[in-house]
Amino acid sequence: MNSITRRDLFRTTAGAGVALLAAPSLTIAADEPAKLYTLPKLPYAFDALEPHIDAMTMEIHHDRHHKAYVDNLNKALAGTDWAGKPLEEVLAGLAKLPEKVRGAVRNNGGGHYNHSLFWQLMSPKGGKPSDALSKAVEDAFKDQANMFKLLKEAAMTRFGSGWAWVTVKEGKLKIVSSPNQDNTLMDGTGSPLLGIDVWEHAYYLKYQNKRADYVDAFFKVINWDFVSERFATLAKG
Ligand code: MN
Repeated sequence: MNSITRRDLFRTTAGAGVALLAAPSLTIAADEPAKLYTLPKLPYAFDALEPHIDAMTMEIHHDRHHKAYVDNLNKALAGTDWAGKPLEEVLAGLAKLPEKVRGAVRNNGGGHYNHSLFWQLMSPKGGKPSDALSKAVEDAFKDQANMFKLLKEAAMTRFGSGWAWVTVKEGKLKIVSSPNQDNTLMDGTGSPLLGIDVWEHAYYLKYQNKRADYVDAFFKVINWDFVSERFATLAKG
């Protein structure tokens, strides 16, 4: 099922793990638990993407790296008015954040957003793009093979750590790359549709320095149902 909507994915409910204080409080505000971002469950088993993406990489990537972004984002926003706001709003509003937390929110909020999306972009079942998405791909890149070629170039030429993206703005697709955990919500140039994590933690155990092989492997596990649904949502604006 691909029924997880973007709203579900990025929903920022109060953390279930936060215990309410037992003592009665005088104000409603004091009774409210801190609003926390939470680590989303991986939508498949760690080994589901084998042999393309190995189980140990998935486990460490999700349970440790992504969890650290979530924990550090919560720490950075604690006590600010931004705690628990929709992540897209936070990332688009970085310039308005208190300066002392801005860097941490950029890195860890970006990390949380990017990884929450990344897990859903992959699936063992393959599939193919919707007609509407195929049309947009053809308009922008001639065909899917050329889109992959350009996306791979973006992934390969991103020096150090970062992401290669296919973004959508006003229904049009574009390929870009970004450093660290940045994404195109931060500069308003588009919404990430499809992204490849090119940090070494995403591939080093299996592929070592062979980023190109990892990118080719990623292309084999793209969840086209999810990407097509996401395109339909984003293209509507
Ligand atoms: Mn990563």
